[in-house]
Amino acid sequence: MKERLKMAAVATAAVAGVAITTVPAQAHTGIVNVSRGDCVYFGTSSHGEADTTKGEGDCKGHAWLRVKWNGAISNWIHDPWKARFTAPGLKGITVSDHKSCETCSYETVKH
Ligand SMILES: [Zn+2]
Repeated sequence: MKERLKMAAVATAAVAGVAITTVPAQAHTGIVNVSRGDCVYFGTSSHGEADTTKGEGDCKGHAWLRVKWNGAISNWIHDPWKARFTAPGLKGITVSDHKSCETCSYETVKH
């Protein structure tokens, strides 16, 4: 179910021709899409966990994520497919930043 929602968001962004868009989300879960070239990356963020994941398309490079947790900003986390941060106790994330390559700009979710 969650994957379907993400794919729907990706499809909507593609139809609209929007490179970077913010999708309204349910309370306490933020979703951002960050596109680069033909590739779509998407980020999800809640108080307990955040991730940036490669979506569909010709994705090159890594998915990148950093969070502000427990008052401290993390280093950037990156992964060939999914960069993820799970907060101890599943709480305390107040900001997450999601980007599609090391030197790319990022989209922010605030809690
Ligand atoms: Zn929140």
